Order: sequence, then structure tokens, then C-alpha cells
Amino acid sequence: MRKKNRLSFSAVSIENKNEQKMEHKMLEKRRPTKSSTYQYSKFGKRQKGGRHPFSRGSQYKSLSEGKIPPLENGKIRIIPLGGVEEIGKNMTAVEIGDDIIIIDAGMHFSNEETPGVDYVIPNTTYLEERKDKIRALLITHGHLDHIGGVPIVLSRIGNPPVYSRNMSVLLMKKRQAEFPHLPPLRAEVVKKDETIMCGKTKVRFFGVTHTIPDAMGIIIETDKGWIVTPGDYKLDQIDGVVSKEEEQEYSIFDKAKVLLLMTDSTNIENEGFALPEIKVHQGLENLLRKINGRIIIAAFASHITRLTHVVKVAEALGKKIAIDGRSMKTNMEVAIEAGYFKPKKGAIIPIEEVNNYPPNKVVILMTGSQGEEFAALSRAANKSHAKFEIKKGDTIILSASIVPGNERAVDRIKDNLTRQGVKIISYRTPGEDFVHATGHGNKEDVKWLHRKTHPKFFIPIHGNHYRLELHKGLAMELGMPEKNIVVPDNGSIIEISADGQKIELRKEKAPSAPMMVDGLAISDVQDIVIRDRQMLAQDGMFVIIALIDQNTRKLKKSPDLISRGFVYLKENQELLRQVRIIIKKSVEDASAKIRPIDFDYIKNNLGETVSKFLYQKTAKRPLVIPVVLGI
Ligand SMILES: [Zn+2]
Ligand SMILES: [Zn+2]
Repeated sequence: MRKKNRLSFSAVSIENKNEQKMEHKMLEKRRPTKSSTYQYSKFGKRQKGGRHPFSRGSQYKSLSEGKIPPLENGKIRIIPLGGVEEIGKNMTAVEIGDDIIIIDAGMHFSNEETPGVDYVIPNTTYLEERKDKIRALLITHGHLDHIGGVPIVLSRIGNPPVYSRNMSVLLMKKRQAEFPHLPPLRAEVVKKDETIMCGKTKVRFFGVTHTIPDAMGIIIETDKGWIVTPGDYKLDQIDGVVSKEEEQEYSIFDKAKVLLLMTDSTNIENEGFALPEIKVHQGLENLLRKINGRIIIAAFASHITRLTHVVKVAEALGKKIAIDGRSMKTNMEVAIEAGYFKPKKGAIIPIEEVNNYPPNKVVILMTGSQGEEFAALSRAANKSHAKFEIKKGDTIILSASIVPGNERAVDRIKDNLTRQGVKIISYRTPGEDFVHATGHGNKEDVKWLHRKTHPKFFIPIHGNHYRLELHKGLAMELGMPEKNIVVPDNGSIIEISADGQKIELRKEKAPSAPMMVDGLAISDVQDIVIRDRQMLAQDGMFVIIALIDQNTRKLKKSPDLISRGFVYLKENQELLRQVRIIIKKSVEDASAKIRPIDFDYIKNNLGETVSKFLYQKTAKRPLVIPVVLGI
């Protein structure tokens, strides 16, 4: 997805070093909100692009140091550190007496707000400052928005033990293996009905239904009642009748005193119950029976339950299965390793062997349902897949919804595929069987959970602010007084009073700027780098290389100009002529003023002057990089 094109110009790399130094200086001074690399300081923030995504979070560290008072005797503190201003990177800390227990440590991939960054994880500063109190990290299930941050988070908070069910632990181990330089994972497998002690705090679990096996809810016992979160869940139900097994799992709440419920708001806008997965299983099974040609199913690698079901059905129908896409292969390996299913020997074949079988005897499972550039389906669609070719007559089932933001990429892939004479079935295709269902409960699932757990207090989590507010509205509809609900932001510090009668939001906040993992660097203050990337993406760059004769203090020759993604230089000779004049004047004026020559001063001056001039002439703000050398 990410290409890191480093320009090979030596001039640029010289400048890069200087800029890195510059950034360091700025960081040392703790001025992460300074608007950008120096040449833009006068312009303030980029006016075109609007609000900078990290500006708010950047008042980071110093805020928390010493300013958040320690937890008072008898109170309980809840701190959602991620997942409540977004869907993704879930993490919540619960502080009781001497114990801090963390629930989940997720990630989300970079988006247009964080160009070039590998992924983003929650801010761990609050936890880093209270390492001694951390007793455990509890993981509800193995999806990346719950486990993706685990390796890095653990390494920053003193590597506490991690508890989760079998498959989640196996998935975490796979992920941990990608970070060989970090301390090994101290994971313990728990059963869904188990009870463990985390310090002095008793914790128990219960099983929930989601799109991945071994999902579990968490109950933290306190002297005021239970703190409950089901993690991601939807109900196992048909036409609103919840299955016996599900009723059994949740029956522990019948007589329980639930102090606080924290639960998923992802699908709070969707009416009714979430479509049960069994309908999708049936739908896919029908299609596998019905379609006579070759079938390619594109799905989320994370839908392990569905993928294993497809393999089982295909196998039973005497078809071979090829799995393509790294994450999907890994997840299927884990499912087999976990003993979740056991394909017959030879049932799963390598993708390059699909042509050895008649079309109606193979099913291909692929990643790329979101149009991701380098996923298997994309490569197949634009004929850049080394081992596999789409053929006329193939049927492609897109067994996934489109994540908002991916619509265009998915359309493009559909176009490419249609041009090759294939039939596409998506979850929107009218008259077809169900090929996708959400893994998160809809409104009715959510209501059922509230009624079942009958909590005193409620904190909506897992969703952006709008969804959290809707969820609050729903809780009030169900009879909860408004004062018993807190809608949090990332870093909110929420406290339940010692008598268990009040829930309150403290005015202080834990640091919450997202931590960006960018190559090997992890930081919550990369906003300068990110802003530069945004500018490069919008208006390109403009490099000036000027040589000054240190004796005469004049330019040695006409400056070299390099532009990438800004304007086409050959067609803008007049602009270039004027820029050259301005450069000459700026450099020579600046160098005449101060003795000995101050190159930083000349560069700053040159950068600002040229930026201003280019903006006047072109209404664009390329990243201007002046390189001034003396000879
Ligand atoms: Zn999930
Ligand atoms: Zn989730």
C-alpha cells in the first residue's frame, strides 16, 4: 500500500539531515504544535487543508506529568485510551485500588490523515507513568483493532501478562513474531468461563458471538458491582429469537449487580437485529452448489468463522480450495493450529495449481474485498498477479461490505473485473443469496444486551463521537438517567465514586495523541513529518540549490531548480526566470548583511521569500527546500 520513494538527489538528502536536526531541536523544546518545517512558520497552518488532525492531541506529555492526581481511596477510574473517537485502535484501562487492568490494545491502519504512516496505536503515556500498577492486559478477541498494538504497547508498559482465549493468543503470537527485537509475549490462554486474579482484582470471562472464534466478554468484579464489556459481539439469533446457547452464556447476568457496562457502538445506526452469520453460511453454500463455473470469494481475512465454513462446504462438495493473500493464509493456518477445523489432506491447494482442475472443482478465497492496491484480488483484476489469471465465466463473490472510504477503489476493481467477462455478486446484488453480514450487533442486539446486563452506569465505546451519542440516546430510551452515562473521548478520565453512586468525568485528560508507527519509529509527535507529507501530496516540492562565493558573497552561478509534483518547469519558463531573480536578490541581500555568513539565516529567508512568491503566482504551496552551499 505504501511506497517510500526516496529521491536520489544528493541535494535533497543534505537538506533532509538539516531538517531532521531542525525537527529535533523543535522536539527538544517541546513545541510539537509549531506549524511545519521552518519555511512555513510565517504562513501558519496550511490554509487549504483545514484543521490539522493531530493538533489537538499534541499538547501531550507535559499535561499528564504530575497533573492527574492519584486515584482516591475507594474510587474506580476508567480511561478509554482508544476506540472512542473512531472505529479502531481499541484500548481501555480500568484502575481499581492498586491495580490497573487494560482491556485490548488495537491499531488502525493509516488513512488520508496520516499519509505514509504504517499504522496508528493508542497513546500509552498514562500507563507508562503507572507501570507498577499494571497487572494484566486482557484481550477480548483476535481482530487487529483489538490486538494490533499489543507488541508495541506491551514493550512500553513493562510487559505485563496477557490473557485471552486460545485463538486470540495464537494470533497474537503470530503478530509478536513480526517484532523479534521486542521482549517475548507472556500470554496465558484462558477458558471462557474462567476466573483469574489480576492483583487483588477478580476477573472473569464469558463467551460471545462474533466473526472470529474464541471472542469473549470481560467482567471485572468490584465491591460495588461488576464492570462488564462484551468486546465485539452480535447475538446468535434467528428472527429475534436468541439461541439457547447464547441465553446460557448471558444468564450469568440475571442475578448479577452490574455497576458499569461499556459496549460497542459500531452499528448503532442499523435498525433491527444484525443478520445472523448462519444466513450467510447458507447463502454461500447455495452459491457454491448452484454456480457451475469457477468461484472466487473475496472476503476479510479477519472473518475466520466464515472462511473456515466455506472451506468445509467446498470440501464436502468435492472442490479444491486455494487461499491467496498473506493475512488470509496466516489466519487459516491459525484456525487449523487451534484445532478449530481440520481440512482433509490435499483439499487446500496452492493457487498456481488451480488450472489443473476443472473450473467447477475449485474455489478460490482471496483478500482484497476493499480494493486494496496490493491485495490478491486487485492484482488478479489488473492482470499483475504472477500466479493466477481471471477467466471469462468466473464468478466473483464479494463477501464483505465496503468500509466507508473504500467505495472508489472497490468500484475500480469491479470495473476491471467486469471487463474481463466475470460475474460479480456482492452483498448488494438483488435477488441473490446473502453473502455478507456484519460482525457487530445492530440496535436490537444492543438493546437486548442493555436489558440483559441491566447496568447502573454506562459508557458507550467503539465508535466515533456521533455513534457514541446515539448509543447514549438509546440507553436513555431504555430508562437510564442521563447522569449515569458518560460519553468519552480518547484519554477521558472517568471516575465512579467510592460509594458507587456517582459517575463523573474529570477535567484532566490522559494524553491521547495517537502514536504513529512509521517504519521503525514510534512517536506521538510526528505531526511535522505528516504535514510535510500532506503538502507534498497536495502541491509537490520545489528544491533550490544555490552556490555562494564566500569571498564576493554573490551567487556563483544561476541556481539549480528542481520541481516534483508542483509545476512542469519546461512550460513555466517565465515563472522560473522570475524565481531566479528573487533567489539571487534574497541570497545576496541576506549574505551581505551578516558576517561571517549565516547559512541558516540565508536559507530561512530564501525559503519564506520563495514560498510567498510561488503562492502569489500559482496559488500553490509546494514544500520549498532551499539548499545553500558556500564555496
Ligand atoms: Zn472484532
Ligand atoms: Zn472491533
